Amino acid sequence: MSGKSLGLVFFPAFDWAITPAHPEREERLLYTRDQIVEEGLLDLPNIKEFRPRLARLQDAERVHIGVPGLAQLITDAHLVSAGGAITAAEAVMRREVHSAFALVRPPGHHAMRVVHGTRGFCTINIEAVMVEYLRRHYGLNRVAVVDTDVHHGDGTQDVFYHDPDTLFISLHQDGRTLYPGTGAMSELGSPGAFGATVNIPLPPGTTDQGLHVVLDQLVLPMLEDFKPDMIINSAGQDNHYSDPLANMAITAQGYARLTEKLGADIAVLEGGYAIEDALPYVNTGIILAMAGLDYSRVVEPDIARCPRQSETNTRYIAKLVAEWQDIWRRRDELKREAVAKAGDLWQRRRNIYYDDSGIQEQQQETVRQCPFCQGYQTVATQADSRAGGSRSAFAAIIPRQSCGVCRRQAQAAVHNAKQDGRHDHYYLQDKEQDTLEEI
Ligand SMILES: [Zn+2]
Ligand SMILES: [Zn+2]
Repeated sequence: MSGKSLGLVFFPAFDWAITPAHPEREERLLYTRDQIVEEGLLDLPNIKEFRPRLARLQDAERVHIGVPGLAQLITDAHLVSAGGAITAAEAVMRREVHSAFALVRPPGHHAMRVVHGTRGFCTINIEAVMVEYLRRHYGLNRVAVVDTDVHHGDGTQDVFYHDPDTLFISLHQDGRTLYPGTGAMSELGSPGAFGATVNIPLPPGTTDQGLHVVLDQLVLPMLEDFKPDMIINSAGQDNHYSDPLANMAITAQGYARLTEKLGADIAVLEGGYAIEDALPYVNTGIILAMAGLDYSRVVEPDIARCPRQSETNTRYIAKLVAEWQDIWRRRDELKREAVAKAGDLWQRRRNIYYDDSGIQEQQQETVRQCPFCQGYQTVATQADSRAGGSRSAFAAIIPRQSCGVCRRQAQAAVHNAKQDGRHDHYYLQDKEQDTLEEI
């Protein structure tokens, strides 16, 4: 039997749920696990199972600023889920396997840099925690995260929005038709990281045909140009035609071919809520593709239900691809324009809604554009909860490989804010020193 070695990590999180009957529940992994055992995949010599480790709070605080503190917002299940992603990544880094797939929950791609609660079933961003762990412990630099969940990976985008070394590509059902509503083509990264955020919003009803046009004509050439040290796939499976939460028309075969072409080093499970009709097939297809095995016989029993792509969608997707190819070709010139336009400071204000926690957050972000480093950032955040509580914080973030000027200015910014006393909490996140302190 041929094949490439593949590591699998399972963590169904039996003791964690939003509510008992919530679509994001432990059965999502249990059916898949049954299917994998039934198919004998764990008996194959090139597939090896790893036990998830527990991530440390510090691993999560390398990415997130929790208000009032991350420890109060998460359970051990979150640290095992992130730890499972880290276990998968370390198995690859140590060359114990060619690639690895972390089938873990709770998911993570809607968790943003600042965390007030749970949104889109996510509290900490397990891929981002894994990426920053690899950077800290293995010295990785250029990383590509390709998010193939049906929902826009808004949290992962947010975490890396100012980082030119992380290419974040999200394929998703157009935000005008689906949660969380973001992920328009115009969201391209802040000026210093312009073009490192790529959003490809697809029309409802996109099939394998449309998905593979986007993959062949946009995603794969972009990855080739970016030359990442590692490719990570946020492997959400809710693009499947039977998924109850979305409106796309992708099959297990479509996902398996995507996996084979992408050749990700690490895949991390994200969404996918057709627990019996899709997940066992899609996951089996992905596992076989990652292991370099024949996946042609993985076919859903109700495949006849999968619709065909409309002519309108085919034309729409062709136009979208052409527009993106044009932006990508001109990205250096567009970046220079964006940097010149921003001047010394780039700012944006946003409202962020935590659907699972009933929290409305207002945020103002500022990035100092620095010619010598990524530039320090500050975030002023105010969260109002459904229950009537309100909480505010100010944070300054010192980037990796920061210059001395940015370091001193970031420290001064948080101390000045504290003297003004307009917020409840003050934080300094120092990526260089690997610390998060409350000031
Ligand atoms: Zn999703
Ligand atoms: Zn600087």
